[in-house]
Amino acid sequence: MTQLRTEGYEVVNTYHDSDLVIVNTCGFIDSAVQESLDTIGEALKENGRVIVTGCLGVKDDEIREIHPNVLAVTGPHAYEEVLNQVHEHLPKPEHNPFENLIPDHGVKLTPKHFAYLKISEGCNHRCTFCIIPSMRGDLVSRPIGEVLSEAERLKAAGVKELLVISQDTSAYGVDVKHKMDFWNGMPIKTDMKTLCEKLGEMGMWVRLHYVYPYPSVDKTIPLMAEGKLLPYLDIPFQHASPKILKAMKRPGQAERVLERIQKWRDICPEIVIRSTFIVGFPGETEEDFQMLLDWLDVAQLDRVGCFKYSPVEGLKLMSLVVMFLKKLKKNDTFVSWKNNKQLALLN
Ligand code: SF4
Repeated sequence: MTQLRTEGYEVVNTYHDSDLVIVNTCGFIDSAVQESLDTIGEALKENGRVIVTGCLGVKDDEIREIHPNVLAVTGPHAYEEVLNQVHEHLPKPEHNPFENLIPDHGVKLTPKHFAYLKISEGCNHRCTFCIIPSMRGDLVSRPIGEVLSEAERLKAAGVKELLVISQDTSAYGVDVKHKMDFWNGMPIKTDMKTLCEKLGEMGMWVRLHYVYPYPSVDKTIPLMAEGKLLPYLDIPFQHASPKILKAMKRPGQAERVLERIQKWRDICPEIVIRSTFIVGFPGETEEDFQMLLDWLDVAQLDRVGCFKYSPVEGLKLMSLVVMFLKKLKKNDTFVSWKNNKQLALLN
């Protein structure tokens, strides 16, 4: 959007006022796919000139089968391609090249007081319920100097709270083997702790999101105790049953997680922990589900989101389901999604 603004295009809020609509899609779960397809349909109906981009763009054929009249379909991180398509279907407007159309911090869609700071793209994990790695690829960390400079510009623009986001914040720098970069002429290591320290010194609230339970998380807790980071962790644990965690390909030692949470609270008593869980995962029994409830009783997390397992087309979960069904003993009770919904008071 910043580039389009630089070129003189305007961003407007209604279909009616626009010459062209760009639909940024999500393909994370089937319901998100449906929502994306519905939105493309709405944009076509209301405006008619639509370019599709984002994760669902990898399924070009499927989109065109339902919506053959879209002007173009591009995939995730296809910034150049989106720009090319815009240029092709809506020629660049004329504007005075000496007039600066964008602020130093670029175009921001959030209110003035907070901003998202994206530190990496993609993910090296392969959780069996998640299609993100196959859509967005392996982890690619942004250079730390670039991230910190963006944070400085946001601070200068009046931002009070930075929300650090990525698919896996705790893995920051792993892909580049924590190599040295430069920021303000000084060498600086590409890793999560260094990033948090430097952000914490900028005088904004810094909130960490989407932290995988890696050991590196432990190093950020003292920074929270010192007031450099907000005492807040958004850390999806997903389940507590070792069997289900193993099937999800997630770290499986729920007991150890409880110990870690206790240690975090010892170091930073005011820490607020938010987490999310999936129920109704293929093979989950009443026993597994009860294990999760018992774990939550002990963990006493501050905020909990609970999602019904949603199958994702393209994931190799069916073989997993078959494997589980074979393994289920006669007296196991298969927890139906409907049953779980009642139990967890979902939705
Ligand atoms: S860590 Fe998160 S983004 Fe990565 S595969 Fe697992 S659920 Fe998906």
